[in-house]
Amino acid sequence: MNKKGILIIISGFSGAGKGSVVKELLTKGDYILSISSTTRSPREYEEHGREYFFDSKKEFERMIENNELIEWASYCDNYYGTPRKFVEHSLEQGKNVILEIEMQGALDVKQQYEDAVLIFITAPTVKELKARLQNRGTESIEVIDKRLKRAYEEAEVMNKYDYIVINDDLQTCAEDINSIINAEHKNAKR
Ligand code: 5GP
Repeated sequence: MNKKGILIIISGFSGAGKGSVVKELLTKGDYILSISSTTRSPREYEEHGREYFFDSKKEFERMIENNELIEWASYCDNYYGTPRKFVEHSLEQGKNVILEIEMQGALDVKQQYEDAVLIFITAPTVKELKARLQNRGTESIEVIDKRLKRAYEEAEVMNKYDYIVINDDLQTCAEDINSIINAEHKNAKR
């Protein structure tokens, strides 16, 4: 029988470089990324169905109502949620599914899928985090401040994760996570 895939949850402070690390990780093995639904507006380079499903608040609430989301959370005034069907189907097919989601949702998923592997990515320092957010240039000063404030709150829950990985160098960080997942695959209890 086909072995079930591993559910990998990746969280991290805004600006820690999660998106780039996940992109790199996808090239390293049998990984598939779950695309979330969100009510936030798309950034200039983003496309519906590629980075996110950009849905209306009404559509989002319909999905919650119909139990179509594994988890959902409100983050800096917008809703974000993980579509259930895609994740469950991919795990059944033996694929390693990556969820790039914030903490509240991550801990919620861990309660439902106890074998899920929780990985937290952080930048080496807060100074570096702020610099990365500013250099990205996709958010206003107010939004950056909001996101940094949220980072301080998240720091308190970080120790609930199975692994904390520092993103000092993109390649090394992606390789570290790949090694973690390979080791988890060999875990006899799975
Ligand atoms: P961004 O607006 O920068 O794309 O995402 C903001 C935050 O929402 C990030 O921490 C990201 O990981 C998180 N996020 C993205 N999709 C989901 C989701 O489906 N569920 C939850 N709980 N968080 C998500």
